[in-house]
Amino acid sequence: MRRISVFGATGSIGESTFDLMMRAGGPEAFHTVALTGGRNVTRLAEMARALRAGVAVTAHDDCLPALRDALDGSGITAAAGPEALLEAADRPADWVMSAIVGAAGLAPGFRALRHGTTLALANKESLVTAGPLLMAEAARHGARILPVDSEHSAIFQALVGEDLAAVERIVLTASGGALRDWPLDKLAKATVAEALAHPNWSMGPRITIDSASMFNKALEVIETREYFGVAPEQIEVIIHPESIIHSMVGYRDGAIMAHLGAADMRHAIGYALNWPERGELPVARLDFAALGRLSFRAPDEARYPALRLAREVMAVRGQAGAAFNAAKEIALDHFIGGGVGFADMAGIVEDTLAALSRETGLGNAPMSLQEVLAADLRARALATGIASDLAARRAG
Ligand code: NAD
Ligand code: MG
Repeated sequence: MRRISVFGATGSIGESTFDLMMRAGGPEAFHTVALTGGRNVTRLAEMARALRAGVAVTAHDDCLPALRDALDGSGITAAAGPEALLEAADRPADWVMSAIVGAAGLAPGFRALRHGTTLALANKESLVTAGPLLMAEAARHGARILPVDSEHSAIFQALVGEDLAAVERIVLTASGGALRDWPLDKLAKATVAEALAHPNWSMGPRITIDSASMFNKALEVIETREYFGVAPEQIEVIIHPESIIHSMVGYRDGAIMAHLGAADMRHAIGYALNWPERGELPVARLDFAALGRLSFRAPDEARYPALRLAREVMAVRGQAGAAFNAAKEIALDHFIGGGVGFADMAGIVEDTLAALSRETGLGNAPMSLQEVLAADLRARALATGIASDLAARRAG
């Protein structure tokens, strides 16, 4: 039986992974090594019981007593905290889902690679912050990384049997998020609730807001560059409001291969779970006559400064990805907390990158995970200062 661990099991990707595992036979089909979650220990314990997991880990030490209670009599080990997450990643598994949100997902996934596992990578932040190190770590240990972001799964599938050298362009599709049809002058006043109303995809709250600001697509452009090794100028972004085409690969003969399907993350998760085979998946089938047409439009850079910043990050590389992601996480925290506006987030990230660049430069490539985490912390401290100053000015 395949040994499986799911990091971030209680999140949106984690729930979809759990759903596919249960449909495939649950504990009869998989040996579940570890499941991890955050504060929702009731749900985590339910999932751990259903899959008869070896260990369940909450990210928060103060949640350990509640997790222990919820697992009472099950024989499942309860654990808590960042160290316990790494310990869970050290438990040998054949397939590990990396679906913690944010830079917090980097260390556990990185650790799992050491054991030669197949890492199903939803946590795009891992590639944005530490792409070269992560890919090298996988190669060193004969581990495989399978993309789970829908765009990257689409590209991966469009590349099957093809020569990467024949690729001319990669076209990332973007829904445009909740605010895509808002006039530019109204955008600055968008509330958290408005940014959370995604037209097509049901996802965790942070990535949903990142979709509206296009920071999600900015992360994905960098993710594409790091995972597939293509040059930044080969990567294009196109707004495709229907989210039916999940992304495309263009070859030097002008041919385009695309992945189409319903806007359901179980496409990408299921592909990674069944890889290299294709299994049945409970996703809606496309009805082209009902769809009628698919539409496209170029993203407006004035509206989406995040896309320009992604280009700058790719030009510098080094620690820029870690700093970009960390500053974005802090800016998002401040937007969610109500201190700054929707349109302020890009400015906070840009100012953080500029300040770091003046301070010590961003070009030095991190040589270890510790150096990535140090760059992340440095950017968080600076971004917090910048965001707090801005919030004080906005309030004052
Ligand atoms: P989510 O917020 O729904 O779930 C996040 C999970 O991580 C939860 O289990 C939570 O308990 C856990 N978590 C949060 N903070 C943590 C911390 N500091 N330490 C340990 N665990 C922590 O998020 P999601 O939407 O499922 O996204 C997960 C990842 O997948 C993100 O990197 C996201 O960008 C990526 N992704 C998500 C989707 C989607 O459809 N939701 C699509 C593509 C990529
Ligand atoms: Mg995506």
